[in-house]
Amino acid sequence: MNSYSILADTGYRSDNTLYNEEKRLFYGQEKSVLICNSCQAVSSTKAAFSSFSLPIEKHQNIAEAIGGYFKSEQVERKCDFCKTTATATKKITLEEIPKNIVIQLQRFGSTRRKVMKKIDIHLEIYLRKYVEENKVIEDKAKLYGVIVHKGNTLSNGHYYAFILFGSQWYLVDDMRVKQVTIQSLQNIDGQPYLLFYRTMPRPYIS
Ligand SMILES: [Zn+2]
Repeated sequence: MNSYSILADTGYRSDNTLYNEEKRLFYGQEKSVLICNSCQAVSSTKAAFSSFSLPIEKHQNIAEAIGGYFKSEQVERKCDFCKTTATATKKITLEEIPKNIVIQLQRFGSTRRKVMKKIDIHLEIYLRKYVEENKVIEDKAKLYGVIVHKGNTLSNGHYYAFILFGSQWYLVDDMRVKQVTIQSLQNIDGQPYLLFYRTMPRPYIS
């Protein structure tokens, strides 16, 4: 089996039912709903996803960046029902959330410069408001890994990681592994690039 066929296999059948529970480790499912602004016809499609790629330039923290991803937007297209070319309101909701939520912060865009923006990272994220109404799924997740890029350009720099093991955070940098406090995550030397959250089993105790 080559890596391409693994990537193509999302664990969902063509009717969007999940056939492989293991795929839920990294694959979720989102639903995209389009409402025609001219005739109000509703159409929806479902698709598997394995990460969120979030623009960060306009946001101060991860919750805001996630909110931006799910914000409804206006798109222009030809309506299948009224056949007019009109704007439609597009909104994404979550049908299934993977056990591991991977968030990629868009630091390496098309402008050929690295986005250096500082953004606050939450130790926990809550996705309830982006989940289909009346669906009960695990929608709270806890940070367990951060990959950091250090460097000012797209073409060079260095990657290192923060990893939570048990209740202890570690900094892993090539051969160097050291225990760090949670406060280290507030003052990272470099720019967080990939975030890894793990969903927490229900019921939640706060
Ligand atoms: Zn229409």
